[in-house]
Amino acid sequence: MPTYECPICRTKLEVASPEEAPYRPFCSRRCKLVDLGRWLSEEYRISEEIPETSEDESKSGEEPPAGE
Ligand SMILES: [Zn+2]
Repeated sequence: MPTYECPICRTKLEVASPEEAPYRPFCSRRCKLVDLGRWLSEEYRISEEIPETSEDESKSGEEPPAGE
């Protein structure tokens, strides 16, 4: 009988056939959604970490006041 382990809750599962485990490699729909949520939150975290480097360039473009 094939067995697998849910990567979310580490539950060991035994299935007689792949048809009996529609949420593989997860044990249930809940764990599948948890994994999906982790993926989405990781992507949000990466897109938020954009370094601000073009801030200094606008300051150096100013011309010094011309003295008469
Ligand atoms: Zn699980």
